[in-house]
Amino acid sequence: MLRWIKKLIKKLKFKTPPMDTLRDKVYKEEVKISPNKGGKIQPKFIVLHHSAGPFKGTVSYIMKKSSRVSYHYVIDPSSGDLIQMVWDSRRAWHAGKSKWNGRSGLNSCSVGISFSGDTNKRDVADYEIDSCAKKCIYLMDKFHLGIDSIVTHQMISPGRKNDCSEDTYNKVIDRIKILENTSPSVNI
Ligand SMILES: [Zn+2]
Repeated sequence: MLRWIKKLIKKLKFKTPPMDTLRDKVYKEEVKISPNKGGKIQPKFIVLHHSAGPFKGTVSYIMKKSSRVSYHYVIDPSSGDLIQMVWDSRRAWHAGKSKWNGRSGLNSCSVGISFSGDTNKRDVADYEIDSCAKKCIYLMDKFHLGIDSIVTHQMISPGRKNDCSEDTYNKVIDRIKILENTSPSVNI
């Protein structure tokens, strides 16, 4: 019994490594380009989502032309690894009716990153937060965006969408600040 419990603890520890061990972790990326995409965009925002459905189902749904939806990136909840489904400078179909900072229809100016499942109902693992934060930093550097350009679907489509959870969003923002070496609680 004790051995079994020890084994379980070891497994759980492996599944949720503490955040400070993740700083240098690099997540794998696979490219699977979806047919659901449009023309060129110049991203001004990063929109965080959750897919509600499971990871594999989400990816295969996005690969179907008939679904008419896509994210630029989907994060694997078992590892934090990413699947890129639309190139960063092409339009993906993730935001729908949306408005932020005087702009509407954010598909024309944003990159969409999605967690799997329902982030309001499940705990998002540290490595998922870390992976998302690192991808945001990459995109912020690439497109010269500030941290305030990161929003959730909920923020840009209020009343219509509830993804991703506020808690998940706050953790991603805090993680970016830590990775960029500024204090998460101080605004400079
Ligand atoms: Zn969404």
